[in-house]
Amino acid sequence: MNPPEAPTATPAAAPASPAFDPPLWRNGWYRPARALASPNFGPRPAGALIDLLVIHSISLPPGEFGNGNVQRLFTNALDWDAHPYFQGIRGLQVSAHFFISRTGELWQFVSCDERAWHAGHSHYRGRGNCNDDSIGIELEGLEGGLFEAPQYAALAALCTALLAAYPIGHIAGHEHIAPGRKHDPGAGFDWPRLQAALTLPAHCWPALPAQMPAAPAPKLP
Ligand SMILES: [Zn+2]
Repeated sequence: MNPPEAPTATPAAAPASPAFDPPLWRNGWYRPARALASPNFGPRPAGALIDLLVIHSISLPPGEFGNGNVQRLFTNALDWDAHPYFQGIRGLQVSAHFFISRTGELWQFVSCDERAWHAGHSHYRGRGNCNDDSIGIELEGLEGGLFEAPQYAALAALCTALLAAYPIGHIAGHEHIAPGRKHDPGAGFDWPRLQAALTLPAHCWPALPAQMPAAPAPKLP
């Protein structure tokens, strides 16, 4: 028998090399965010279990949006004399890992692997000093006020990425980790909306005020 004819057809093209797909995270920095490094951070304690996301609201001065002042505050570049409100926070050195503008633009100031300065005196899920082992997310807004749809979309996407990268077991507001002292993000933040966007069991969320009971159905005659 003749040996089988050598194939003459050109071999199938090698599979195209996969598109360059850089990782979402690099040393605690989230690639889709606009990075603006803050000097206000420090190391986390050795062995810190980063299992808490803390939601805040902020605007400077309160109720004025899109002016860049939050970014300036977190990078110690705010002109304290630019507005009377700033007199009361002169010299404040704070940061958060993330900031989401009213239009849903995402900024990052501190690597999630480092300790940002957003929580202050705080206690949650049986542990104090929440800055040690939490990730802080600031929403541009007024405490107690409403937030914008693009902010919820950006927040849900960010939380999803954080849940995939860190052992997050709790999401809470600043008001929940420092009750009585802090009140943000406040009553205007739609917790059920964020809950609906994420797949986290009920025990991962703060206890929310009971919903108003639905009006009783009219009795049929
Ligand atoms: Zn706060």
